[in-house]
Amino acid sequence: SKAQLFDKDSSKKVTFRDVAGLSEAKEEVQEIVEFLKNPNNYTNLGGKIPKGALLVGPPGTGKTLLAKAVAGEANVPFFSISGSDFVEMFVGVGASRVRDLFRQAKEKAPCIVFIDEIDAVGRARGKNANFGSNDERENTLNQLLTEMDGFGSNSGVIILAATNRADILDKALLRAGRFDRQIYVELPDLNDRREIFKVHLRPIKIDESVDVDFLARQTPGFSGADIANVCNEAALIAARKKKKFVQRDDFINAVDRIIGGLEKKNKIIT
Ligand code: ATP
Repeated sequence: SKAQLFDKDSSKKVTFRDVAGLSEAKEEVQEIVEFLKNPNNYTNLGGKIPKGALLVGPPGTGKTLLAKAVAGEANVPFFSISGSDFVEMFVGVGASRVRDLFRQAKEKAPCIVFIDEIDAVGRARGKNANFGSNDERENTLNQLLTEMDGFGSNSGVIILAATNRADILDKALLRAGRFDRQIYVELPDLNDRREIFKVHLRPIKIDESVDVDFLARQTPGFSGADIANVCNEAALIAARKKKKFVQRDDFINAVDRIIGGLEKKNKIIT
């Protein structure tokens, strides 16, 4: 089986306008957009463009969204693969997928390659040696390191990887010339939640009872993904009641429902 790079839903271009809050992270990735658009402005004095950056933060905070927005803003294709796709039981498959990935990316340059859950392959080597497939995972990781070193920094391929556990990553991945930049993608604060609600209320038909500030205050600890969920859920609740517009009480019900879901998830984990 081959790792195929697909430019999924390339018709729906994501831009920074779709990413609410995360102002520092956006500023940092803005530079990557510039590298992709005008590489010569950076390399003409002999500098090397970074090969990749690591997006670090809790689930659902917009790491994938931000990576897509970089591609959208630079107008280059976006390819994504999950670290867990590299971890295979069969000897050599993971490493050959990594080789495939880089070969295809170089052909499609300039482009963004997004590796979600990089910790699945990038956990520090030599730990959990009692698990059977560990050697195989290490082969895959070594291949990834080799490929990162092998492709020229001015190849037009920029690798963005995401994790919520930067602390468990193999230090070799973070060395200069690999993922030497870390960009933090945090849970949104009150103001950010307001901005995220504004983005996700755009397509929803709401009436004047719905107040963005109230919603932001009702949702401490929610991620951007949770907020997107609330907006969608509220619209479904109102539609079920055959309403013409989504109202404040539909949002309150949706928030309760999402909180219930989050509590259940936490119970399973702990
Ligand atoms: P995971 O670690 O679980 O893969 P992630 O950090 O990659 O999560 P995304 O997949 O980017 O999170 O977010 C899921 C969805 O949540 C997005 O497609 C978007 O609808 C919404 N979302 C998350 N963060 C934001 C944000 N900052 N602004 C607007 N929408 C957001």
